[in-house]
Amino acid sequence: MLSFNPKLICCALLISVAGYSQEVVKQSVLSYQTKEYQSKRTVFVNSLLSKMTLDEKLGQLNLPGAGDITTGQAQSSDIAKKIEEGKVGGLFNIKGVEKIKEVQRVAVEKSRLKIPLIFGMDVIHGYETNFPIPLGLASSFDPTIVQQSARIAANEASADGINWTFSPMVDISRDPRWGRVAEGGGEDPYLGSEMAKAMVFGYQGKDLSLNNTILACVKHFALYGGAEAGRDYNTVDMSHVRMYNEYFPPYKAAVDAGVGSVMASFNEVDGIPATGNKWLMTEVLRNQWKFKGFVVTDYTGINEMIDHGMGDLQQVSALAMNAGVDMDMVGEGFLTTLKKSLQEGKVNLTQINTAVKRILEAKYDLGLFQDPYKYCDVNRAKTEVYSQANRDVARNISAQSMVLLKNSNEILPLKSQKNVAVIGPLADNAENMPGTWSVAAKHKDAISLLAGLKQTFGNAVNFTYAKGSNVDYDATFEQNAAMFGKNTYRDSRSKEEMLKEAVDVASKADVILLAIGETAEMSGESSSRTNISIPQAQKDLLVELKKTGKPIVLVLFAGRAMEINDETKLADAILNVWFPGSEAGLAISDVLYGKVNPSAKLPMTFPRSVGQVPIFYNHKNTGRPLDSEKTEKCEFQKFRSNYLDECNTPLYPFGYGLSYTQFAYNNLNLSSKNLKGNQTLKVSVELKNSGKYEGAEIVQLYIRDLVGSNTRPVKELKGFQKINLKAGETKTVVFNVTPEDLKFYDNNLKYDWESGEFEIFIGGDSQKTISQKITWNK
Ligand code: BGC
Repeated sequence: MLSFNPKLICCALLISVAGYSQEVVKQSVLSYQTKEYQSKRTVFVNSLLSKMTLDEKLGQLNLPGAGDITTGQAQSSDIAKKIEEGKVGGLFNIKGVEKIKEVQRVAVEKSRLKIPLIFGMDVIHGYETNFPIPLGLASSFDPTIVQQSARIAANEASADGINWTFSPMVDISRDPRWGRVAEGGGEDPYLGSEMAKAMVFGYQGKDLSLNNTILACVKHFALYGGAEAGRDYNTVDMSHVRMYNEYFPPYKAAVDAGVGSVMASFNEVDGIPATGNKWLMTEVLRNQWKFKGFVVTDYTGINEMIDHGMGDLQQVSALAMNAGVDMDMVGEGFLTTLKKSLQEGKVNLTQINTAVKRILEAKYDLGLFQDPYKYCDVNRAKTEVYSQANRDVARNISAQSMVLLKNSNEILPLKSQKNVAVIGPLADNAENMPGTWSVAAKHKDAISLLAGLKQTFGNAVNFTYAKGSNVDYDATFEQNAAMFGKNTYRDSRSKEEMLKEAVDVASKADVILLAIGETAEMSGESSSRTNISIPQAQKDLLVELKKTGKPIVLVLFAGRAMEINDETKLADAILNVWFPGSEAGLAISDVLYGKVNPSAKLPMTFPRSVGQVPIFYNHKNTGRPLDSEKTEKCEFQKFRSNYLDECNTPLYPFGYGLSYTQFAYNNLNLSSKNLKGNQTLKVSVELKNSGKYEGAEIVQLYIRDLVGSNTRPVKELKGFQKINLKAGETKTVVFNVTPEDLKFYDNNLKYDWESGEFEIFIGGDSQKTISQKITWNK
């Protein structure tokens, strides 16, 4: 990852987002590219290619980082010299429209063929207006608002010179030790696929050549989330059946949604690093999935194959080219060795030409040949980035991503408490609110919980603050978890002094809001943990505060599913806010005070113990399952699949999340119990808001294939709907199930459904469901 200091851009003007943020795109950008358009593009690209020298071709395949280019010297930097010589196809993580414009000028005025550069950036969950981390976005179970967040991110990034984002990250993961779970959609292939599509549609819109749409890049292809022991960059080894059924679907969904580029992952697949894996990049991606865009490596992905043990730089670069990789991020293996490999017959010119064509096609689609400065409108950068309108949308989306895990005695929403103690090392920390992978965010301007509370309810409520503890007792750990300018303001006072202050503040309050958990960089890249609980200093703080007898509302900051057994016992309520983004404090206040009734659900299982990992709802039954009663009661049984020292069930299952109101599910009704062929099964259920607040419920539909030629998961999510109901209101919620929903890859990788018995489940999470059985024959 490349770090840089984002230049603050002044932009307080209000703009209306209604025009672009409310349009929901449902069709791949490719479906708008007519045959005529494609043949015009081919003629253009072929003609340009015919004019290119081999060096210029290799230059197009080269994607260096921007280094430390500053405005004013962009034209004279080392990178500028390379651009002038035609040795650069694009740049990434350069921020600021003026700078980008200057660099683009070098390409289109000084290089021989005047080919414009493509400008990429990790716009992962928003640009300057920062949305919740992707795991939080997925918790909304709401593709419409996720698409909206990507649309706004694209609008802001494109206004500031960027036309390519390295997002969406769609790596399925069942291992919360892996820090990068923060960047993805969680553990489920269906939910992950819905999120992948929403983001691609949001970034790319209907027409890539518009100046406010940008090229998306699905990553990390493939299986990066399957790293052994949850340790980042580690080996992945899994069966093809699992790959195709459980890990591939979100990448494929992004490809089907017309994603313009794919990023190769760092890990190996079947013993060959993804970057050099021809089966993956050509057979799966191109031949099976018909991907038409270009493939970029991850940061120095080619060079890292040397350490993987695949040969020297020349060998690994040729390996990547032969596999079907088109663009080399940072490492310059293509630039420096492919000429020699061509002379020696280790790669051929057709391969190089194909890669160059794919990159030129993307530039053509973005409209860069028509106008290389299309994304360099200084005026847009001033008015459309970090606008109040965008931030208002972010505030709402943040609130929709928060998961209420516990709410004893209906302590939430807060009501009449006059004195509220706001305590914890994350209570007044703006920088950490955007979470990991937020390179363009204005971290210091993000709104902390304390600031948000004061801004929204400060007139009516007396908020008092104490830090209470550092993030952790271990200063080195805390420093490692505070990278990229996300300060934790480590306190030099003794533990006792800080606790005493917190207890004093708490004793005078009616309720305690305790903001604890992880800092932003305790998840994300290279932030794996073996212990996924809250650091000890903060755990101790909770124990001390409990002694005051005051009710405690825990506001949990987390970049992963966490182990929070103790906290579940001690706190009266727990609101998991993930990392909510630039408007964090306002959005949390909205939820705590009931302006927004929480509706989000967990996209990833929260284990009782890290020893249960990998734990996920859609597991197989095994031949010796623990019976359901014993599972529920957490009783051990010898010679069944369970633990001597822990239950099988998680602390909080996939799909779980409370509301301030209650929902009752009644009258599950199936249109038929006996289906044949291509019929459609209508599944309906009566959903009643039986509580006292208006609220939304994510109604989830799961299916189990009870008998098959291959073993099948005990449940698979196949649909969800977000239903808003007034207090007392009832609605019939209907799902249509077709044989498409029953299909799976068997162990010959044949994708089809099989006749037999199925169980259909409906519920508010993956555990608490009502169900009926059917038969469905071909
Ligand atoms: C990460 C990618 C990211 C790239 C460029 C890598 O270290 O794995 O997700 O897009 O850096 O910043």
